[in-house]
Amino acid sequence: MSEQKTFFSNLKCRECGRLYPKEAIHICEFDFGPLEAAYDYDLIAKHINRDIIQSRPQTMWRYRELLPIDGDPTVGFQVGFTPLVRADRLARQLGVEELYIKNDTVNYPTLSFKDRVVSVALSRARELGFQVVACASTGNLANSVAANAAAAGLTSYVLIPANLEKSKIVGSLVYGTHVIGIEGAYDQVNRLCSEIAGKYGWGFVNVNLRPYYAEGSKSMGFEIAEQLDWKLPKHTVIPMASGSLLTKIHKAYNEFIKVGILPDQSFSVHGAQASGCSPISEAHKKKTDIVKPVPNPNTIVKSLAIGTPADGYYALRSMEQTGGSAEDCTDEEVIQGIRDLAEYAGVFAETAGGVTVACARKLINSGKIPRNESIVLCITGHGLKTQEAIHGQCGEPRIIKPSLREFEALVKNDPAIQPA
Ligand SMILES: *Cc1c(COP(=O)(O)O)cnc(C)c1O
Ligand SMILES: [Zn+2]
Repeated sequence: MSEQKTFFSNLKCRECGRLYPKEAIHICEFDFGPLEAAYDYDLIAKHINRDIIQSRPQTMWRYRELLPIDGDPTVGFQVGFTPLVRADRLARQLGVEELYIKNDTVNYPTLSFKDRVVSVALSRARELGFQVVACASTGNLANSVAANAAAAGLTSYVLIPANLEKSKIVGSLVYGTHVIGIEGAYDQVNRLCSEIAGKYGWGFVNVNLRPYYAEGSKSMGFEIAEQLDWKLPKHTVIPMASGSLLTKIHKAYNEFIKVGILPDQSFSVHGAQASGCSPISEAHKKKTDIVKPVPNPNTIVKSLAIGTPADGYYALRSMEQTGGSAEDCTDEEVIQGIRDLAEYAGVFAETAGGVTVACARKLINSGKIPRNESIVLCITGHGLKTQEAIHGQCGEPRIIKPSLREFEALVKNDPAIQPA
């Protein structure tokens, strides 16, 4: 894959378009705009097509020409290509005709979509020669950095708000990483990480390696298009923390059109947040592009609790450009969303999944998503990672003695049970 170098050409400022070398940098020196990976799309159009992609292994790396590394991936080669499942029972429950779940609760190896971004960031970190990798995280990113760094033999430090869910903390500690709990909200963790990155020269996947990290999210969009038999859904509902995933699914859909893999077609991307930390959704509803920080997020949806979202402005632009909308929902609605997804689609998602389902329901009921158009819900993390959020909210097992008589007394009022 020596030609790979020329597919991924530069980093480029999203504001002024200035080009930068492909190093561990993330901000434009002139206007502080974020840097983003740029590609030679004409060249890519000549090199890939549907048949070539389909002939490759079923991982996110089947789209490697559109991912920002120079050589072969060396971390997370098995990540991605999670199931896209049609969910007819949930569709009936939501009152829509064509509904799919992009199920990243089963992403390899740490059961969230963050394995996609980490696979790219750590492969690039190795190309750039980093020995120590690190991140600021609301939980899932820490899990994925810890696991993938362990597998690759890299030293890792993960910095998290100290009050995260137990499973998210254990889910980092188990890999032998250095877990630093910060007494503060995510924004404070992130600020500290920027200082450390500058001083220690580590590869912070979502600070100085952010342009590479962020591109990994595109693979979710590429997969959705391919798994819908090379078509885009009319509506994609996406949970937002920093807003990066939403902007990158938008970018992925556009890139497939740009390189001729898909014909031009219209689509909308919609964003979902929890009301206890919904700076992007608030700005969208107020029709402003100024994202007002939330200093003290207050929600059970810790994975999305970023008060100052780095890509909030660009997420708003993506929704506006595609005719999409943002919504937010209460913690009670999140729990109902988790239960609906489990009871009607058989998928156990973490709190962010509940946000996506609950906000989709609101967008449908308000007419922002028409009932007869295709919809994909991006379900981004597994329910076993945030069990405390629903503990005691879905009943308790009924306890009996090991006796047939007690069992029969228990089932005799269940109309589905017929004695043989
Ligand atoms: C990180 C995360 C997101 C979205 O993150 P962005 O910062 O908006 O890209 C969504 N769901 C889960 C479960 C996450 O961990
Ligand atoms: Zn610039």
